[in-house]
Amino acid sequence: MSRRTNAWLTGSLARAHPLTASARSITFAVPGWPGNDPGHHVDVRLTAPDGYQVVRSYSIASTGTGEEIELAIDRLPDGEVSPFLVDDLELGDTVELRGPLGGWFVWRPEQTQPVQLIAGGSGVVPFIAMTRAHASAGNSIPMQLLYSLRAPCDAFFRDELSQPSATAPTTWHYTRTVPPGWSRSAGRLTVKDLKSETLPPEQVPLTYICGPTGFVETVSRALISLGHAADNIRTERFGGI
Ligand SMILES: Cc1cc2nc3c(=O)[nH]c(=O)nc-3n(C[C@H](O)[C@H](O)[C@H](O)COP(=O)(O)OP(=O)(O)OC[C@H]3O[C@@H](n4cnc5c(N)ncnc54)[C@H](O)[C@@H]3O)c2cc1C
Repeated sequence: MSRRTNAWLTGSLARAHPLTASARSITFAVPGWPGNDPGHHVDVRLTAPDGYQVVRSYSIASTGTGEEIELAIDRLPDGEVSPFLVDDLELGDTVELRGPLGGWFVWRPEQTQPVQLIAGGSGVVPFIAMTRAHASAGNSIPMQLLYSLRAPCDAFFRDELSQPSATAPTTWHYTRTVPPGWSRSAGRLTVKDLKSETLPPEQVPLTYICGPTGFVETVSRALISLGHAADNIRTERFGGI
C-alpha cells in the first residue's frame, strides 16, 4: 500500500501522551507522508542550531494511508535522542522524517499464515500497528502476542492490548517484577515458556520478534530449537545488548 519516499519530510508534533514513567506516545502530522504498513519504521532526524545532525530509527505504531504517524519512544537515560523525544519535544515542534522503511518486517492483512508476535520491551511498537490492522481488517487468521517486559508498570498500550475486542490476544511475561497474585515467578523467557506460550511449529506460524538485540537473538535460537523454520521467523533489532 505505501510507497517509500527518500525525501526528508517535516513532521510537526500534533499529540503526545505518557505511556509509562519513561516512555511516551508522540504523533506527528506529516504533510506528504505516503502511508505505511504495519511493521514499517521511520528515520527521525534532529538538527541542532549549529547544524549538528543525528538520526535514529523508530517503529510506527500507526498504520494506513493518513498523513499522521504515531511513534512510541522509551527514554534511555544516557541516550542522545530518546530523552529529547520523551521529555523535551513540545506540541508544534518539528523534526524531519523519512520512510516508511523496512519492507521485510511488515505484516499485511492479506497474508494467510497464522501470526505469532514476540516483543521485548519497546519492541512491542510495530506489533501495536499489526494488532490494530488485524482488528480493523476483521481478519480471521490467528494472531497472538507474547509480550516480555520487566514489570507491569513498563507496559506500553496495556489498555488497548487488553480490550475484550482485541482480536490478537496478549500473553504477558514479566522478567523482574510480577503483578500481585501472578501465578508465575519473574524471569527471562525460556525455551519452555516459548513452547507453552507461542503457536507450535505444526501450525507453521509466521513469527515476528522485535526488541533489544540480545532478546531477539535468544528467542530466535530458541524457536529454531523448537522446530520452527528459520524462513518463518522475521526479526527487528532495536540495538543495545
Ligand atoms: C528499526 C528500529 C526501530 C526502533 N524502534 C524503536 C521504538 O519504536 N521505540 C524506541 O524507544 N526505540 C526504538 N528503536 C531504538 C532507537 O532507534 C534508538 O536506538 C533508541 O531510542 C536510543 O537512542 P538514543 O539516541 O537515546 O541512545 P544512544 O545515544 O544511541 O545510545 C545510548 C546508549 O544506549 C545503548 N542503546 C542504544 N539503543 C538501545 C536499545 N534499543 N536498548 C538498549 N540500549 C540501547 C547504546 O549502545 C548506548 O550505550 C528502534 C531501533 C531500530 C533499529
